[in-house]
Amino acid sequence: MADVPGDIHHHDADRWVQCGCGAKHWGANGAAGLLLWRAAGTEVLLQHRAPFSHFGGTWGLPGGARASQEDAIGAALREAAEEALISPHGCRVWATHELTHPDWSYTTVIAEDIAQQAGGIGDGESLDVRWVPMESVSHLALLPAFEDAWPLLRRYLRPITLIVDMANLLGSRPDGWWRDRAGATQRLARSLSELDSVAAAPFTSELSRLFPEVLAVVEGQARGVDVQGVRIVAASGSGDDEIVAQARAAAEAGDIVLAVTSDRELTERLAPWVLAVAGSGSLRRELD
Ligand SMILES: [Zn+2]
Repeated sequence: MADVPGDIHHHDADRWVQCGCGAKHWGANGAAGLLLWRAAGTEVLLQHRAPFSHFGGTWGLPGGARASQEDAIGAALREAAEEALISPHGCRVWATHELTHPDWSYTTVIAEDIAQQAGGIGDGESLDVRWVPMESVSHLALLPAFEDAWPLLRRYLRPITLIVDMANLLGSRPDGWWRDRAGATQRLARSLSELDSVAAAPFTSELSRLFPEVLAVVEGQARGVDVQGVRIVAASGSGDDEIVAQARAAAEAGDIVLAVTSDRELTERLAPWVLAVAGSGSLRRELD
């Protein structure tokens, strides 16, 4: 990057890394990019890279090196603001995907544009910034690393709903919950509401972290439970029937649906509607 124009923002980690894989990568702390989608995942925001940049002239994601003390999401949103005039407040992050090298990593932050943002050329790193229809992406000359990741990433450009079988989650740990089922469910729902993300691993090895909409299904004595920050659905009859109905509705609305339960029969019933089901133990560990 010898001829970087003067209007580019610089920070301490803006340098090349000689990686154990044999290649050089940009960003001493790794790098991150924003994969912003809109219109139910039918369009994504791409950046036409300036000629002086690495693989100049190709199309890729707005992004760049992570500054020290900056997490991947912070870096991706900052870079998108600088390069593509995207406001972080108009981005709803749904998931991250991480490419890990011996001495470097690249995190793709998958987010939804919730503010009808046009985007635009923010600085000299962009020749153009454009919303591109999904089906046109692979026809562009893409940055090679983005071209490699695109077939995987394109499958996750939708909202993610995580449905929790609260009765099963509660029952997964013998901590005396049976003495006050409603109170114990209330506490469990509160800790769920404080969870901002979950590890993707119990559901898919293709992503790193998930930031889903959580839908907690309660039944029986726990039906009155109400907690800010988590959507609670009280089953009028069978909890399992309600969970299946919610999964189906979310899938038919176009969401990626995940569920948490260790109930084998329920897991089988959910199969047509969910991407994956994780056992209650995995969510319990996240809540600890
Ligand atoms: Zn490498």
